[in-house]
Amino acid sequence: MAKRRIIKCISCGVYNENLEFCKNCGAVLSFRKRREQKVEAQKKKRAEVLKMQPPNFIENLRSHPNMVYRITGAFLYSSFAVVSAIGAFIAWLVFAIAAG
Ligand SMILES: [Zn+2]
Repeated sequence: MAKRRIIKCISCGVYNENLEFCKNCGAVLSFRKRREQKVEAQKKKRAEVLKMQPPNFIENLRSHPNMVYRITGAFLYSSFAVVSAIGAFIAWLVFAIAAG
């Protein structure tokens, strides 16, 4: 006979029996599953940050015939590179702390 495992949903307070997800609101009930999901979400977020590309208008500015626009484009492009590098670093840091 299987052991009855009743878990109270942390999100809506409904009691669920032998379920991994809340029957009422769909929240994840088991602690292990929650942790797995958290790690998955962080991996996804990290991949997104690393995939980040500068917006199109910056690329347009960089190939603009007017030099002032080109310089602005180059400036925005390097700012973007710095921002995404910091973002990637923070994402890595958060992941490293959570995984550790
Ligand atoms: Zn619930």
